[in-house]
Amino acid sequence: MLDNTHEDWKSRAAGLTFRGQAFIDGKFTDAASGKTFDSINPATGAVLTPVAECDEEDVNRAVAAGRVAFEDGRWSRMAPGDRKTVMLKLADLIRENLEEMALLDSLDMGKLVTDAVTIDAPGSAHFFQWYAEAIDKVYDEVAPTGPGDLALVSRVPLGVVGAVTPWNFPLDMATWKAAAALAAGNSVVLKPAEQSPLSALRLAELAAEAGVPDGVFNVVPGFGVTAGKALGLHMDVDCLAFTGSTAIGKMFMQYSGQSNLKQVWPETGGKSPNLVFADCEDLDAAADMAAFGIFFNQGEVCSANSRLYVERSIKDAFVEKMIARAQAMQPGDPLDPTSKMGAIVDEKQTQGIMRFVEEGKKTANLVTGGERVTVEGKGCFVQPTIFDDVAHDNPLARDEIFGPVLSVIPFDTEEQAVAMANDSIYGLAASVWTDNLSRACRVSDKLMAGSVSVNTVDALSAMTPFGGMKQSGFGRDLSLHSLEKYTALKTTWIKYQA
Ligand code: NAD
Ligand code: MN
Repeated sequence: MLDNTHEDWKSRAAGLTFRGQAFIDGKFTDAASGKTFDSINPATGAVLTPVAECDEEDVNRAVAAGRVAFEDGRWSRMAPGDRKTVMLKLADLIRENLEEMALLDSLDMGKLVTDAVTIDAPGSAHFFQWYAEAIDKVYDEVAPTGPGDLALVSRVPLGVVGAVTPWNFPLDMATWKAAAALAAGNSVVLKPAEQSPLSALRLAELAAEAGVPDGVFNVVPGFGVTAGKALGLHMDVDCLAFTGSTAIGKMFMQYSGQSNLKQVWPETGGKSPNLVFADCEDLDAAADMAAFGIFFNQGEVCSANSRLYVERSIKDAFVEKMIARAQAMQPGDPLDPTSKMGAIVDEKQTQGIMRFVEEGKKTANLVTGGERVTVEGKGCFVQPTIFDDVAHDNPLARDEIFGPVLSVIPFDTEEQAVAMANDSIYGLAASVWTDNLSRACRVSDKLMAGSVSVNTVDALSAMTPFGGMKQSGFGRDLSLHSLEKYTALKTTWIKYQA
């Protein structure tokens, strides 16, 4: 019986079989071109498995399968209560295969397996269950026309939903899109990030096992410029749900305009501020959460609290607390439950992070970290890194680094803190630490962010919408509002003899 030691996880990993083929119309299949690319483990550099390199032709096949399924109603016209039963079964199957799902993400993109098995994989099961339970409890509307007219306002599925997702939470980003889109009755064609396609392929297989009919949930692994673009430009895709960088989110808006005016839901980058006021009573809790807010998942979190604004009177003492926490979170083998941080997703991302760090060493005050390291002589790892006294216009404070790099900026007044926090092209998330209730309300009211957390960071649940303002995009995942995104409002007006 395997438990939770490093050896246990290594032996589970050794026993895994990977699915590397595309999943189209209920079957695993090679790319039409026969091409493959390697899925790589960034902690070791080892090739996990070749993966089908889908391009336009495969996207066409998957969209066609999704369309046929949608039109004949095998899923789209199934009673919501029956769709619920299938999706609950899928949630159960994810739970039955929790360790495997966690390992796929950990091996593919470097996150700690202990996080994946306690947060990502149970989260995926929970979100499928949440949307399953919702769908036979949401009612449509009857307009107040009066006798002689019956006007129904109903929510109908859109058709074929394309989903293009990033690598930082591979299973959960696939789930956030697919659970809501499938619950609403759509067919889905998902293109996972090329760095981390494995958990989405296994998810599609589990969905089929749960009873999701052929053609309803398709996964086409491949690169952005080929498979992703083909989905974005497809004339028969009705909606494109995107999570990734702001630059690519903008491209999907263009693809839509160049093709069929499909709905696009961009959820994009962030540079989220965390404001710590001197009247916060539990500064240790604030420091614990501030460290979690930037170093969790190696800082590869869209809503990472990467800008830390601290009131000047407590700034130096708070930075000391942060340094201690950073130093206790050194990276290690993602399969070792004693590791506090995992590997960066790949070589390119690691080099990108290190460019920011090297520039930062010339322009700000490096107080801990700042080096690329290896684990057992291998892999893509970066130390938890903190820069103090960062100027507000320094790239460290303005650009999304998407790594374990924190910028500390002192402030003197509440107005100044709010103004600096809002002076960003992004508006995904923000946090405020204070024990003054009026200040908490006043500051959260003024922060331009899709999610504001007070005396915590990154508060998130299936019950509450998640998404941004400004160039963090306007898509919303989670909650019933996301279910709505995957439907069209339809008016049906019936005349009758009153
Ligand atoms: P990315 O934009 O490079 O890639 C995201 C997806 O888009 C991938 O599947 C990729 O293959 C595809 N893609 C890339 N180029 C494309 C093109 N030209 N045409 C079509 N598709 C293309 O982002 P990434 O590096 O994978 O992820 C990191 C980014 O994701 C960060 O900016 C992060 O903030 C963001 N993110 C946002 C959220 C959110 O909810 N707002 C959540 C997670 C990550
Ligand atoms: Mn990988």
